[in-house]
Amino acid sequence: MKVFMILLLLVGSALAGTDQGVRDEFNGEAVDFFMGNDKIAAKLEMTPSPNCLEGDMEMSEDQKKVYNMMQEVTSKDRAEVLQLASTAFRLWPDKTLVYQFDSSLSNEMKAMFEEAVDLYREMTCINFVEAKDGYTGDIPPLTVKGSGKGCYSSVGGPGGHLNLQNDLCDHVRVCLHEIGHALGVMHEQTRPDRGDHVRIIEDNIMPGYAHNFRMVDRELIAPYDLQSVMHYHSYAFSRNDFMETIIPHDISEGEKMGRQWSLSRLDIYKFNLMYDCYDGCPEDLKDKCQHGGLPSKQCTCVCPEEYKGAYCEIFNGETACSAEFKATSGVIQSPGYPERYPSNTECVYAIECPVGMTVHLDFKDFDIEGFGCFYDIFETKTGDIIDEIYPDKYCDYELKGVTKDSKTNVALMTFKSDSLYNYKGFDIEYRCE
Ligand SMILES: [Zn+2]
Repeated sequence: MKVFMILLLLVGSALAGTDQGVRDEFNGEAVDFFMGNDKIAAKLEMTPSPNCLEGDMEMSEDQKKVYNMMQEVTSKDRAEVLQLASTAFRLWPDKTLVYQFDSSLSNEMKAMFEEAVDLYREMTCINFVEAKDGYTGDIPPLTVKGSGKGCYSSVGGPGGHLNLQNDLCDHVRVCLHEIGHALGVMHEQTRPDRGDHVRIIEDNIMPGYAHNFRMVDRELIAPYDLQSVMHYHSYAFSRNDFMETIIPHDISEGEKMGRQWSLSRLDIYKFNLMYDCYDGCPEDLKDKCQHGGLPSKQCTCVCPEEYKGAYCEIFNGETACSAEFKATSGVIQSPGYPERYPSNTECVYAIECPVGMTVHLDFKDFDIEGFGCFYDIFETKTGDIIDEIYPDKYCDYELKGVTKDSKTNVALMTFKSDSLYNYKGFDIEYRCE
């Protein structure tokens, strides 16, 4: 997980500018702070390209036919349609995406595309090969160009086009997203199970664009992922800058949705599954990885930062105030409570209830330095740990008198104080329900 955060920072460094200092200061987690304005993303990705579906997927006539069938699937013809889909939207042969740069692409865009490719290379087993002059291989290359309007790509391979309009698509997220299409992935928010996670607000969609929100049935190989690089953000195809078109059921997830600047943990897992990267791994590896751990292409478990060990089975709280709670009820207090908490403290808390139960948190007292949670901060992860990269952040009196329930049998919390201004802290009662 730590490696992953560092990677995020590396990817982010391509977006250098006045925000870089802010990003470093927040240790990588400023990535979503930087994206404080969804509308940047909206403008970037939502310049619909002519002849593209859902804004940025270029399809052949044959693919369009199958795509339409995927939107109309009934239980009767589902198996048949999914079979057609696997033929129409193909994976690249030999786990190898071959690409060539068209002269219309700027050197800056080439470098950014390569940066995105390097992340796929590092996190998946997919090979990316540049077809240079005189290429004589069997796999038709994907042509990466800058002359078209907008940021878009063909869906699946081999061959096809990926367009990165030079002055519009210059963000690594956009490159990762379009490469995702080229590898054969469609948008996360059109999954047939999206209704369990998000709501589409049809009244807020630009007139004539509602068809971009139709569900597209497909084989689902991993849990729904709000943080996927293939998920659109809240203002996708909005009729203006203020009206959200996609709202997650868990509102607190909204700021994480469609705004990640890197591949999410589930993205990496999904691409590795699609391209058979786990072929050499023990079959039960996924089940053996505990606490939201996911298999890596090296057949190890990639753990959330709160856990370590070969199977993420060991609590990773290294400071004296960190603790793991396995009793079915208990109390968690800031160090020294009710006296002021000490400076420069970091405490990690993990509550693990028996499987099948959830964690009920009751914040009896909560008093942490405020000021936008920039200095002292209390973070919770009460969602499904498998897809929860970014915690919810609190300070001031925000959680005083509040109760929270976890989605799974695990709840994780972290408290950090800096060198100045210490307050009373927190007193939390929890119980398994
Ligand atoms: Zn797209």
